[in-house]
Amino acid sequence: MLSDIEIAHAAKLKPIEQLAHEIGLTDEEFEPYGRDKAKVKLSPERKPHGKLILVTATSGMPAGSGKTTTSIALAQGLRRIGKKSCLALREPSLGPCFGMKGGAAGGGYSQVLPMESINLHFTGDFHAITAANNLLAAIIDNCRFRGEHDIKEVTWKRVLDVNDRQLRFIVTGLGGSANGVPAETGFDITVASELMAVFCLAKDEEDLRARIDRMVVATKRDGSALTVKEIGCTGALMALLLEAVKPNLVQTIEGGPAFIHGGPFANIAHGCNSVAATKAALTIGDYAITEAGFGSELGGEKFFDIKCRSAGLRPNATVIVTSTRALHWHGGVPLADIAQPNIEALKKGLCNLDHHVRNMQGFGPNVVVALNHFANDDEAEIEVIRRRCEELGARFAVSDGFARGGAGAEELARQVVEACEGDPRPIKFAYEEDAPILDKLQAVITRCYGAKDFSLSPKAVKDLKQIESLGFGRLPICIAKTPLSLSHDPKLLGAPKGFTIPVERLILNAGAGFVVITTGSILRMPGLPKVPNAFKIDVKDGQIVGLS
Ligand code: ADP
Ligand code: MG
Repeated sequence: MLSDIEIAHAAKLKPIEQLAHEIGLTDEEFEPYGRDKAKVKLSPERKPHGKLILVTATSGMPAGSGKTTTSIALAQGLRRIGKKSCLALREPSLGPCFGMKGGAAGGGYSQVLPMESINLHFTGDFHAITAANNLLAAIIDNCRFRGEHDIKEVTWKRVLDVNDRQLRFIVTGLGGSANGVPAETGFDITVASELMAVFCLAKDEEDLRARIDRMVVATKRDGSALTVKEIGCTGALMALLLEAVKPNLVQTIEGGPAFIHGGPFANIAHGCNSVAATKAALTIGDYAITEAGFGSELGGEKFFDIKCRSAGLRPNATVIVTSTRALHWHGGVPLADIAQPNIEALKKGLCNLDHHVRNMQGFGPNVVVALNHFANDDEAEIEVIRRRCEELGARFAVSDGFARGGAGAEELARQVVEACEGDPRPIKFAYEEDAPILDKLQAVITRCYGAKDFSLSPKAVKDLKQIESLGFGRLPICIAKTPLSLSHDPKLLGAPKGFTIPVERLILNAGAGFVVITTGSILRMPGLPKVPNAFKIDVKDGQIVGLS
């Protein structure tokens, strides 16, 4: 089979104007951005009407589990059975593209195109977010340098969309008093930033402005919080984000519509594309498919408790992507052997699937398990998974979208259509909106992770006191955790129970409207592996090669 990028290069794309007109956009509602991308601003009269389908997965493994590929396959499959589908996906980050995981535009015959543009600079949204974030950092440091706002400690960090371990902990402002105020700080990756979350969760321009206004960037000597509103630079950030906030329209390899917009990671951020893109997909499609990163306990939980709650979204069905490889891995097979059939290990790994299915059933919508089919999958193993799903009361379908595009996902599409029938059930959130932070934490880790309790580091205790004293003790929570295990420890595979989650830090994101809680050794700036993808990527005859 050809590589992802070879398949992408061989596909014939329709001009973006044609796609925009096919899905009913007027000329005023889109601006072409080159030949095959467009920025979209739907008329405010149009209302979302479609059914919303969340795609999440069983626990991660060092290779991706195929959520994006399966999301795209599902959208293509739905079109093949005569349904109007539309995707809402995240924009890929340069971190994983050049690091370990690779791009995030799907794979095989289930891709969004133009894949290299989507994976690299796309329409520049991440650069705009990075620039706005760092302009704010410069303005805050300028205030401190000039003795304004009585600043005690700056909490706002700079960001970059690169995996750069060297920038995690740094000292800035060296070189004498003319060159700034020496301070210990660090960079986060752009996709972990509060501004990315604000960008994604904002319902409209007014909400974006209000959220930026509310962002807390420093503490003052009198113990109060310094906000962006008080500094007075919200307008400048709005200007830098003006174009970026419009969702990007592209096409699948089979010519269906996809909005790709915003890109928070689910291990270190809330993990779902922008509300604007999800609403656009619900307006254009009868079935809107959106992906939340990593497993149900990470992106899945945050999709419901943060995004759906704040944006008033009501999903009709949840798809959980799994693979024989992922179940082998969680059954204890070493990475080098996960592609080989091993029914005993698979049966052992099924406890991970059980947990994720029950987890998502607990939030309300009907669950469909999609087995992302790999070339040498074993029929007997597939039967074992099918039977387990029956026992769990979940629908099941094999998705062969990677090898066959939409044709390989028609059964999945039919299962999803049936799962969506009827009115959406009310969401059973993991916690009440106004519960204290630690009650929320206890609720999520026991219900969604299988943990017994948590422990707080001395820093976390201080952080919590500070957040409470600033008046934010009842915000929703956004937990940062490894995706490789249901626990905080990547080595605990399957469905571990009764563990204690070590909480490292609590970080106030007042504009996003949550408190980030970091657990275990998770960091918000990834590093590069020994042999990064960057060594494979090149340009040949004017085209990018080696990107996957
Ligand atoms: P996720 O969204 O869960 O991170 P992706 O859909 O991005 O996962 O897939 C991760 C990688 O695995 C991609 O490079 C993709 O091409 C590859 N992949 C996904 N599904 C399959 C499959 N069924 N067979 C072979 N490779 C696959
Ligand atoms: Mg993905």
